[in-house]
Amino acid sequence: KSGFIAIIGRPNVGKSTFMNRVIGQKIAIMSDKAQTTRNKIQGVLTQDDAQMVFIDTPGIHKPKHRLGDFMVKIAENTLNEVDAILFMINANEGYGKGDQYILDRLEKVKRPVFLIINKIDLIHPDELFSLIEQYKDKHEFEEIIPISALQGNNVAHLLDVLKEHL
Ligand code: GDP
Ligand code: MG
Repeated sequence: KSGFIAIIGRPNVGKSTFMNRVIGQKIAIMSDKAQTTRNKIQGVLTQDDAQMVFIDTPGIHKPKHRLGDFMVKIAENTLNEVDAILFMINANEGYGKGDQYILDRLEKVKRPVFLIINKIDLIHPDELFSLIEQYKDKHEFEEIIPISALQGNNVAHLLDVLKEHL
């Protein structure tokens, strides 16, 4: 099984930390070489039974200037070409304007979207529950998966779930 997986989310939600945990050392090498205006291959995860190519999708944030509009278009095109989208949020923050902006863009994308609630190490299980309640009807998420990219909690499970969708 193999597939392309885009990671999106507001700055500082933990996208790079996640990539570092999943791919490790290889990212730095990949991201320097594979940088294009279109998208950025962050790394390739090769397992016995699967290969996953992770793509950073810059430009999905609210544009501040006209070049920004162009970047958003490119990002939308990228999202329509991948096999799965990881929309990452910070468990320690509530639902925000930036999230709504990204979710509005995702409405046009006919690809499976997984809501990844990161930094669960920072919150109480009750808070996680109310966060899921807050987000679950905002989009038709394929699945909602809480993780800690920093500590590694549930990351292997996330990869297993992704694999099933490839
Ligand atoms: P990005 O902008 O989405 O790429 O976010 P980064 O990966 O750079 O992470 C932003 C900050 O959040 C860094 O200080 C990370 O160490 C921290 N961080 C990322 N994931 C976690 C997590 O699961 N738990 C905690 N406590 N901190 C995290
Ligand atoms: Mg980053």
